[in-house]
Formats: sequence, structure tokens, C-alpha cells
Amino acid sequence: MQYYSLHNNSPKVSFQEAVIKGLAPDKGLYFPEEIEPLEASFFQNINRYSNNEIAYELIKQFVGDEIPIDTLKEIIADVLSFDFPLVEVESDIYSLELFHGPTMAFKDVGARFMARCMSHFNKTNPNQVTVLVATSGDTGGAVASGFLGVKGVDVVILYPSGKVSDIQEKQLTTLGQNIRALEVDGVFDDCQAMVKKAFLDTSITDKMQLTSANSINIARWLPQMFYFAFAYKQLKDTSKKLVFSIPSGNYGNICAGMMAQKSGLPIDLFIASTNENKVVPTYLDTGIYEPKSSVQTISNAMDVGDPSNFIRIEKLHGHDFEKLKNNLHSYSFTDDETRKAMRNLYDDHHYIADPHGAIGYLGIKKYLENNNAQCIFLETAHPIKFLPVIDPEIASKIEMPEQIKSVLGKEKVATKISVYEELKSYLLE
Ligand SMILES: *Cc1c(COP(=O)(O)O)cnc(C)c1O
Repeated sequence: MQYYSLHNNSPKVSFQEAVIKGLAPDKGLYFPEEIEPLEASFFQNINRYSNNEIAYELIKQFVGDEIPIDTLKEIIADVLSFDFPLVEVESDIYSLELFHGPTMAFKDVGARFMARCMSHFNKTNPNQVTVLVATSGDTGGAVASGFLGVKGVDVVILYPSGKVSDIQEKQLTTLGQNIRALEVDGVFDDCQAMVKKAFLDTSITDKMQLTSANSINIARWLPQMFYFAFAYKQLKDTSKKLVFSIPSGNYGNICAGMMAQKSGLPIDLFIASTNENKVVPTYLDTGIYEPKSSVQTISNAMDVGDPSNFIRIEKLHGHDFEKLKNNLHSYSFTDDETRKAMRNLYDDHHYIADPHGAIGYLGIKKYLENNNAQCIFLETAHPIKFLPVIDPEIASKIEMPEQIKSVLGKEKVATKISVYEELKSYLLE
């Protein structure tokens, strides 16, 4: 499979090159040249297939012959070694729990898949690759855990000092080996700005191969297609209209759902549910797409003012606004509404959601005011990772999972930086 840049100003590349580069030289996102739907019978008979088989069928056209079939199947089995349960929260409303992986964030699957692909490519690529990521919390932990011990890859994670939860900080500062953390005196946007600057700084990129591990990278983005098929497989009745509500920040996860739909998975409609960072809901209302600086909320993994994957969504809908509006609805919710939703889910349905999942749930409730459908929201992180913003009474009911217990006792190791020059000399050292 060949990938082209959505800025149309760079040569086409192989899967391998797209994974190693992350972003095209013209700064466009890579996009697959073709998307071939699978046989309808595959989806009709989906419950005869294991998760690993489903994942293989969905991803194989995008990898092509660049990873041998047996190796790709081993990678998938290794990546998907935990559950993805669909839990009925109330009649016709389900939560797809994506937090049962090693760092309890949905980003585990993409990060692990990308790391294993790079590890495979590094067998023949003698050059060391440095993965540079900025995180507002969840990405850093998933990337650190996914890449731990991968030969030929160094990982440098920038996170805003004092702005991530204690658990999140431990997850990204305690692993050691090829994972290093930089604690930035600033906010997430400062971390992001430094990373962007480094990617454009030829005095760095001439000396080392930098790549990103956020959802602009196709190997982190595409495996997220699997979730939607895993949910579909668990539905008892597939004859009803099916709607997914996705808590969205950079719109990578929802865009992966649309790739699954293009591959033939019968999804009727998507809801992008978000916080006060509402470029997309505003766009669907007004037709005006206006990126903004992000505002801080209690669902901070979605504090994104200029979602990087939205261009891929536009592409998938042929840049046709009406077509897009028929497939995508989008709603924004305040922190107060989010807190209330967490409270209602707990009081009325005995379900503890994290703030992101709660926003996904709110999106469904809003949609169902005027529509009828079977709806699934993605629960993108375990609530334990957002304890400081969960009502103490509910928080006290959350059991500490093993994955989290194991990092809490470890010692934090991070280098403090405050300006770009410090990042630069750190990388060049
Ligand atoms: C990253 C993240 C999101 C947003 O996902 P996108 O693919 O960026 O839209 C939502 N919830 C949680 C918990 C996350 O970590």
C-alpha cells in the first residue's frame, strides 16, 4: 500500500516509510491511496472470528506485504492481549471499555502496534529513531509503555509540570531504559510548540531521525479501527441502527472508526462528543471551520483547539459538507455537565465513568432526544487516571487496578526544562 500526503506536495511512500517519517516532508498527514471494503459476509459472520482475526482482516490491506503475514499476526496477538468489553449501561446504550490495557488508556493499542512495527523495521534499518512526543497526560504513558525496550528507538516525552495527574506522571517517568521524560515548566501547548519546533529544526533533523507517536502516525491511528469491530461483534442485535459516540480531541479515534466504516463495518452515524474546545461542533452548525487556542477542562485529553486528524475526516467525505453532516454529528459539553453526567451514571446506572467517557455518554443522550438508535460510547480511560476531577464519594468506590499499583511505588526520573534551547541541547547530547 502506498501513502500520499494530504498536502499533495510530497512523493508517495510505503507503509514503512510513512511509519518512520510520521509526517510527510510537506507537513501533510499521510493517507492510504485506496480503501478496499471487505466482503459483507465477513461482517455478517463476525462472531465466528477471534479479535486477532478481525484485526488482521481490517489492517492487512494497509500494511500490504511490508510485514510478513506471520509476523503481522504475532504483532496483533501481542498488541491485543487484553479485553475490550461492551457493557450495557442502560437500554440501548453501551460503553465500550477501552481501558483494560497496560496504561489503562485506549492509546495503548495504537502505541503498542506502532512500537512493534518500528521494531520489525529496525531489524533492517540501522539508524536509531527518536520518538518525540508532547503529552497532556495519557499519550505519554501509553507511548512509554508501548516502546519500552524496543531496540533502535529512543523515546523522549515532554509533559507540563504539575498539569498531569500523579498516576499519569508515574506512568511516564518511572520506566527507564530507552524512555526519558522532560518535565516542562509550562502548559501542554508549550510542550507541543517545542516538539513542533524540533521537527522543523534542521540542525536537529540533519543529525537524527525524529518521529512522532501521536495519531498523525498511521501506525498509531489505523489500529484504532479494531475497536469498532470488536464492539459490533459483541452486539446481540445487529439489525438496529448503530451509532458510535466518540470523546474526541485530535479526532484520530473517530477517524479510525470512519475507516472501519469505509472497510464495510455497518455503522450508521458517528457522534463527536467534546468539551468546550468546540471547533468541530461549531463547524457543523455554521459551516465555518475556525481553529482556536485550547481551553483547559476536566477532560483534558480533549483540550485541543486545532484537531490534527480533521483533514483526514474531510478527505473521507470527499470534502463534501452535506455528506459529512449526514455521517457526523457533534456536540460540546461544559465541565458542569460532565460532572453531572458522571454523577447520574453512578447514581442511576451504577457505572463509574471518567470525564471523557461521560462526555461520550452525554453525546448519546443528546442525540437520542430526537432520534432512535442503538448507541455505543467509547470509554477511553479508566476513571482512576482522573481521580482529582471525580467526585470524592464516587472516587472512593474505585478499586486500584494492578497496572496502576505497580507504578505508584516507583521513583520518578525526569529532567526539568523551560525553554526550547534546553530541549535542543538535550536531544543533540
Ligand atoms: C487521547 C484521548 C482522547 C481523544 O482521542 P483523539 O483520538 O485525540 O480524538 C479521548 N479520551 C482520552 C482519555 C484520551 O486519552
